[in-house]
Amino acid sequence: MKPFEFIKAETTEDAIAALAEHGPDIRILAGGTDLLVDLKHAGASPGVVLDISRVDDLSAISLADDGLHIGAAVTHTEIMDDPLIEEHAPAMIDAAHTVGAVQTRNLGTIGGNLVTCVPSMDSGPVLMALEAEVTLAGSGGRRRMKLTEFFVGPRKTILATDELLLEIVIPTENLGKPAHFLKFGLRKGQALALVNVASSLWLEDGKITAPRIALGAVAPVVIRCEGAEAALEGQAVSDQVIAEAAKIAAGEARPIDDFRASKEYRMDLIEVGVRRTLAAAIELAGQEGE
Ligand SMILES: Cc1cc2nc3c(=O)[nH]c(=O)nc-3n(C[C@H](O)[C@H](O)[C@H](O)COP(=O)(O)OP(=O)(O)OC[C@H]3O[C@@H](n4cnc5c(N)ncnc54)[C@H](O)[C@@H]3O)c2cc1C
Repeated sequence: MKPFEFIKAETTEDAIAALAEHGPDIRILAGGTDLLVDLKHAGASPGVVLDISRVDDLSAISLADDGLHIGAAVTHTEIMDDPLIEEHAPAMIDAAHTVGAVQTRNLGTIGGNLVTCVPSMDSGPVLMALEAEVTLAGSGGRRRMKLTEFFVGPRKTILATDELLLEIVIPTENLGKPAHFLKFGLRKGQALALVNVASSLWLEDGKITAPRIALGAVAPVVIRCEGAEAALEGQAVSDQVIAEAAKIAAGEARPIDDFRASKEYRMDLIEVGVRRTLAAAIELAGQEGE
């Protein structure tokens, strides 16, 4: 690892000023669980490392008129322990629980997970199934967009070099939406996803409305399965409708063959995962309606 200057931001404004001053020569450090690996092994050698882990407003979780705001520097452990997340978006807790081991979850942040932007990230599918938005901030001001627009490609987001990810917002209309997350790996713990899946939906008079299905690790970025969603919209719940949607979802993915699993096996996992997450979300929706 090459020497670098270390700057600790106290406020978001400090962080934005440092990004504007140092441009592409600066790297943001939140929990460091991805960045340190890059600095040691991937040849990344920034002149400056900017620590944002102690910026208060980046570490807050709060409810506002437009939805649930989750600061980018909130750790996976904080997500697991937070009462607002438990009440309004509990599937996020299931996803956070599957990230690495305790030490990784204690340091690793939701923002770092999204910005690293590997296709197998565990935070992505639930957030996408809940139609989360993200707010970015830089010297030119703030901009807010859907999470689907934030991911550009493997390890590439829409962030400009002078911007940081400020927060993730789950819109009010999706708070409390029945949702379920599943991760398939080679082991139960400490394993990257072969496939991860999240589904969310509402049930109205026994019919599925606003179904959302998101898949990780099976395309260059986390994807929504809009064909499968369209097939479910307005349908009465049945095993056949769910099985058909799961098949369509598998067709929308582009899994790879690699040393961890074949393309065919991943396709099977998608179908199983979509069926199970939809069934679980339907069960949750049914309980809420009782
Ligand atoms: C042993 C181990 C196991 C792991 N297991 C999993 C797993 O099971 N599932 C999974 O999804 N991930 C896993 N990871 C990856 C990693 O822990 C997560 O991606 C974590 O959430 C990254 O967060 P961080 O705060 O540590 O990011 P950092 O390492 O601090 O930063 C990661 C990247 O994001 C940038 N960045 C961070 N925050 C911001 C921000 N607010 N704005 C702009 N840029 C920012 C950094 O510059 C860097 O490029 C694992 C990592 C390790 C080391």
